[in-house]
Amino acid sequence: MPILRNLFIYLSHNKTLERFLTGNSFGRKISRRFVAGESLEELEGVARKLIEDGFLLTVAYLGEHFKDLETVKRHKEEYLKLAEVLKNFNSRAEISLKPSQLGMELGREVFYENLKEICKEANNMGIYINVDAEEYRTVWDTVEVVERLNGEGFKVGTVIQAYLFDADKILERLAKFRINLRLVKGAYKESPKVAYQRKKDIDERFKVLAEKMLRIEGVYPEFGTHDDKLIRYIMEFGDKIGKDKTSYEFQMLYGVRQRLQREILDKGYRVRIYLPYGDYWYPYFMRRLAEKPSNAILVLRGAFG
Ligand SMILES: Cc1cc2nc3c(=O)[nH]c(=O)nc-3n(C[C@H](O)[C@H](O)[C@H](O)COP(=O)(O)OP(=O)(O)OC[C@H]3O[C@@H](n4cnc5c(N)ncnc54)[C@H](O)[C@@H]3O)c2cc1C
Repeated sequence: MPILRNLFIYLSHNKTLERFLTGNSFGRKISRRFVAGESLEELEGVARKLIEDGFLLTVAYLGEHFKDLETVKRHKEEYLKLAEVLKNFNSRAEISLKPSQLGMELGREVFYENLKEICKEANNMGIYINVDAEEYRTVWDTVEVVERLNGEGFKVGTVIQAYLFDADKILERLAKFRINLRLVKGAYKESPKVAYQRKKDIDERFKVLAEKMLRIEGVYPEFGTHDDKLIRYIMEFGDKIGKDKTSYEFQMLYGVRQRLQREILDKGYRVRIYLPYGDYWYPYFMRRLAEKPSNAILVLRGAFG
């Protein structure tokens, strides 16, 4: 499938197709496989249904890599409105946001101030904030901001990317707090100077880090993966060391491996769905097709079925 994968990656940058698909109802319909909707109202409907089905949520407003203050401010304000909606879900829904969406590309302090404002409001409503990890060049700045806010008493966690050579150092640095940490394989193209490149090595590192996280007192481990072999490994390791099933959780993207999501939930584990919404859905949607080109068939079947 590399040809199809590369085609979808190429198309994810294609502005003509983006304008076409985002500008008509067919495009919006097919996006619903992986995106809750464009508005807060649409998001609320999908979120309510998932929560009624027994899932936990982490909700993300789509958009990244902003270099102007106006757009950053608009996104911060959207997150404040989102918190107002999520407060009705009794702490079953948290927020995921990206540093580059809230000013990291304008400087670490800009990001810190914006994130602090969101944490202040959302934490008061019982909503936990999770900061996604982006490219390696901003990872340590993200860790420092999260560390500083935890030191100030805010409830904010972040992500450990297993492919990074620095993953253990980041874990050690943040493990001194009672903190939620999401372990993922890592999504960005990084240099072999900073990250493992081979799937086999990354999967091995994921296992080692998962074991560490399950053993650390205070850290609440969140495993963000659709890899059923790793999920099974974690469950077995958790059992072996006597971890309660509800003392950690699995996280998966909305619309991806839904049967697996249900199976894990039915076994008594906590499953949190990463639920994105917003009108900037096109690149996110195309990346899901690139990860698994056969998704395109499911998407079309959903639109016509
Ligand atoms: C909740 C969540 C949050 C994340 N946050 C971050 C973050 O902050 N920073 C970051 O760098 N990365 C993040 N990621 C992405 C992560 O790093 C991986 O790139 C991504 O999850 C794919 O790896 P995998 O663990 O699912 O394993 P893979 O080995 O890629 O996939 C495992 C199995 O799942 C299937 N699968 C994977 N994707 C799809 C799909 N779209 N449709 C159908 N089947 C699929 C594969 O075919 C395979 O069978 C996040 C992932 C999740 C689930």
